[in-house]
Amino acid sequence: PDIAALSEDRVHMHVSGADVAKPCISFAHFGFDDALLDSIIKYGYSEPTGIQKQAVPVALSGRDIIGIAKTGKLVNENKNFVILVLFIRILDDQLVVVYLGSGKTAAFIWPMLVHIMDQGELDKGEGSIGLILAPTRELANQIYIEAKKFAKSYSLRVAAVYGGASKMDQFKELRSGGVEILVGTPGRLIDMVKMKATNFRRVSFLVLDEADRMFDLGFEPQVRSICDNLRPDRQTLLFSATFPKKVERLAREVTVEPVRISIGNVG
Ligand code: ADP
Ligand code: MG
Repeated sequence: PDIAALSEDRVHMHVSGADVAKPCISFAHFGFDDALLDSIIKYGYSEPTGIQKQAVPVALSGRDIIGIAKTGKLVNENKNFVILVLFIRILDDQLVVVYLGSGKTAAFIWPMLVHIMDQGELDKGEGSIGLILAPTRELANQIYIEAKKFAKSYSLRVAAVYGGASKMDQFKELRSGGVEILVGTPGRLIDMVKMKATNFRRVSFLVLDEADRMFDLGFEPQVRSICDNLRPDRQTLLFSATFPKKVERLAREVTVEPVRISIGNVG
């Protein structure tokens, strides 16, 4: 399905901030190496989505991002709807686009991979470089799957930690070392640090995904405690479907001179 073309037509994008990198209209213009480009093509992505066109060059330039985009909620939240979408996909490719989401995950995973590969010789076992906070186990898993698809190109390891699953298994996985990208729900991430399964000392690329939902679920203290314990010189990307005052306050506190990208009728 031509996700990119349709998302471009249907949604309105607003970008604000000083000295914002220009959008790139095709994958070839991102400056990715062949390993990453090949895997993007292998997964059948023919063109970047609207948010990818704008957010990827900004993230690659090292800037912080506040991304406000309402799309993709239906697929995430309603399993019956996924079935319906699969049906529509057979009947008419183009309709799928509306429900699939805007491709935010890859928009932060690709620059995260470039950032990690730019660190030079990776020292194993010292904690992750990329850290992604997500509100729920389901979302953490979706991000984990998308991250693994592309991390494979560089033989980087990804791990996901969340509540409702064995702490011991997650502990062992992190302790085995070499996990460069860690995805998790805030509470379980803190548990893992307390258990000394990992530490946040090397985290220099932070993503807060679905920040409004993390707040709705009561994770504000955990999110703040994690952010307060990270290197202040990190790069931070925050995504949220809605932008209420308390999320706006957090966004202001955890980012530095962010570029704000909003899609749809929000913000
Ligand atoms: P959201 O913005 O809602 O978080 P996701 O990142 O979950 O959206 O992406 C939704 C789906 O679109 C995923 O299955 C992902 O693999 C796919 N996708 C992402 N980018 C592209 C692209 N450029 N072309 C085709 N499919 C894409
Ligand atoms: Mg998402």
